[in-house]
Amino acid sequence: MKFFIRTFGCQMNVNESEIMAGVLEKEGFEWTENPQEADFIILNSCAVREKAEHKLYGAIGYYEKLKKKNENLVIAVGGCVAEKERKNILKRFHGVDFVFGTRNYMDISEFYNKAKEGKRFSDFTDKFDNITAELPKHPYSKHHGWINIIYGCNKYCTYCIVPYTRSFEKSRPIEDIMNEVKYYNDNGYREITFLGQNVDSYGKDFGDGKPKLNILIREAAKFESIKRIWFLTSYPTDITDDLIEEISKNPKAAKNFHLPVQAGSDNILKKMNRRYTKEFYLDLLDKIKSNVENVTISGDIIVGFPGETDEDFMETVDLVKRARYERLNIAEYSPREGTISAKYYEDNIPKRIKNKRFQYLMNIQKQINHEENEKYLDKTVLVIQENKTKSGAYLGRTINNKVVIFESEENLVGKFVKVKINKISAGPLYGEIISKETDLNFEKVEYYI
Ligand code: SF4
Repeated sequence: MKFFIRTFGCQMNVNESEIMAGVLEKEGFEWTENPQEADFIILNSCAVREKAEHKLYGAIGYYEKLKKKNENLVIAVGGCVAEKERKNILKRFHGVDFVFGTRNYMDISEFYNKAKEGKRFSDFTDKFDNITAELPKHPYSKHHGWINIIYGCNKYCTYCIVPYTRSFEKSRPIEDIMNEVKYYNDNGYREITFLGQNVDSYGKDFGDGKPKLNILIREAAKFESIKRIWFLTSYPTDITDDLIEEISKNPKAAKNFHLPVQAGSDNILKKMNRRYTKEFYLDLLDKIKSNVENVTISGDIIVGFPGETDEDFMETVDLVKRARYERLNIAEYSPREGTISAKYYEDNIPKRIKNKRFQYLMNIQKQINHEENEKYLDKTVLVIQENKTKSGAYLGRTINNKVVIFESEENLVGKFVKVKINKISAGPLYGEIISKETDLNFEKVEYYI
């Protein structure tokens, strides 16, 4: 029996697909990357944008056609669109055998057996307590492990569908997460990323209301093989002084925060139900930057939110100029069915204006990127090598998330290399290898740039 998994959306979905693959392999299934030869096709969906949802529906239509050639084929849909649409997917797509949720994906093999009995069904049981380090997994990377530490979101930003598809925040126990870190350590992994919709809310639901991401980072750093610890995505009001301190003093903690702001106008932030002001956010950036050496910040912004005036937009422009992001994802607002903003706010900013604001901000950010990258020219940085780019060169990342492109005759994926930067752009840095991990004395290597 062969299975094929197609994953849409974020790293949390990727991590859940890794576990489903592991569970199925343990039950004797074989992974295939060719849907044409699969007996079982799983679509792990994303609902964040309408575009992703439409992409899923297009994909279901395509895979349904394969059933004409292979009547034994089972098709399943999981992830956020499945949570949002539930039985509607079964009604709309007769080739789909079952739909399942974001907290019971570990039962994928039992679901398959049930479908083979000829039943079409939906199952959205919350089995959060069964998400443990004991679950088998098939990690896609051989050097970078991804660990979902907290599920769900309590924030209810008015434009966002996630709280409705992933339910309330629930943190996994520290001991269980450490067992997963141990798994990656024992298998020689160099990097891990702690994942969550609001990763810095981790542990608030343990009773005392205090976030505990700092404790996780401190404990994970004790594992010898693990050299870098990333965390993604942060919410501004959950970042504590303890977390900033841990990141500043722990050489293995990544010096990068992905800290979405979404807008620079207090008016719009309020309408979005983001729970901070522009001033709070900028003060937080100042605190992080003054405490964590070489830190970089990346962010997300939505332009053209309902009611966004030119003045509101200029507040966002001002924020972007002051934040000096290392990377910025900009999106034009589009209403998501099922959210508060789609229900109560008129999408009244014309597409033309949204697009103009998008371009304006993008140009400012490009200039900032270029200026920030100039600091790296002629410097030597330490990166962990990742896969090849399309051009055939390799890509690596510094501990503060700068992307570096360089040529390498050897495949050193997962290894440290030192690269001298000789060219910059508004995107990656470019350079040449000065030394490889095998030449370095790791007792003396600094993990900073
Ligand atoms: S914090 Fe807001 S944007 Fe992020 S997942 Fe939660 S509701 Fe969505």
